[in-house]
Amino acid sequence: MKIKENIAKIRDEISSVCEKIGRNPEDIKLIAVSKTRTIDEINEVLDSGCLECAENKAQELRDKAPLIQKDINWHFIGHLQTNKVKYVVEPSALIHSVDSLKIAKEIEKRAEAVNKIQNILLEIKTSEEESKYGLYKEDEIFEIADFCKGSSNIKLIGLMTMAPFVDDDSTIRQSFRKLKELFDKMNNKGYGLTELSMGMSGDFHIAIEEGSTMVRIGTSIFGERDYTK
Ligand SMILES: *Cc1c(COP(=O)(O)O)cnc(C)c1O
Repeated sequence: MKIKENIAKIRDEISSVCEKIGRNPEDIKLIAVSKTRTIDEINEVLDSGCLECAENKAQELRDKAPLIQKDINWHFIGHLQTNKVKYVVEPSALIHSVDSLKIAKEIEKRAEAVNKIQNILLEIKTSEEESKYGLYKEDEIFEIADFCKGSSNIKLIGLMTMAPFVDDDSTIRQSFRKLKELFDKMNNKGYGLTELSMGMSGDFHIAIEEGSTMVRIGTSIFGERDYTK
């Protein structure tokens, strides 16, 4: 029951941020980050009308996807290794975490093999924080974007980032702004991007203010994760 209440509360919060800044709440997709969560917990999310779920481990997505009866959209949001791409292409409606040309090429190959057009986002590093994945060199970003443009089985539809884990709102905001600036720059060059995947439990209000179209929420829906299980 708690999960449904939490989702209702988050939807209310999304609406009130949108109202404040004149955005339409329907333009913001709520994605339930279900990593470490059980099928029963995921089904509770689906019963509340949210049909978007995200995993960050390739095998976990591969194992859980067939166990869900409803027709839902899976999102892959974790770091990808070449040999795990095969587990995520089939179930994923959207892969948020493409961070190299090598991975893009592998996704293209796998998507062709299963005869689909795979929607992807590029993961961008927008803060100085160490040990974080993501692209930051513009020539590399445009190289991958151009590869996608010329490919028939992979479609680049936007950008994703994770803000640094700090208490200072202005540092977090800066990181989201950086992503939006790159998004605008790419669109000025004709890449036709529509999605900005930014905002998690602790910072989705700021992300929406800065233009997010997809928020990835785990803890605020399910409670704290227990990695010991
Ligand atoms: C776990 C995770 C989230 C959700 O984080 P919460 O703080 O639990 O909302 C969002 N994005 C990515 C990439 C994640 O790995």
